[in-house]
Amino acid sequence: MVKVRKVPQRSCVACGRMRPKRELIRVVRTPAGEIKVDLTGKVSGRGAYVCPEAPCIERGVREGRLQHALGVAVPAEIAGELQRAVDLVAAGRR
Ligand SMILES: [Zn+2]
Repeated sequence: MVKVRKVPQRSCVACGRMRPKRELIRVVRTPAGEIKVDLTGKVSGRGAYVCPEAPCIERGVREGRLQHALGVAVPAEIAGELQRAVDLVAAGRR
């Protein structure tokens, strides 16, 4: 018997594409109201997901889609943090 495990899917706030959660980058609004890029998936708070791709990060931050999803203003620096996170993930997969 093969156990079929359902992979949790989330959609990107920028392009709306559904992808397995682990392929997306999570941005969290912590209970303290801070915005964090969460690479562990374990930070508590309200999360939004974005593809690890520059165009989605750009749209997510600059078009206010993350802000809309999280309900708070997202600082522009988060775009840079997301991009660094993407680079880290890409380096890890090499
Ligand atoms: Zn996307």
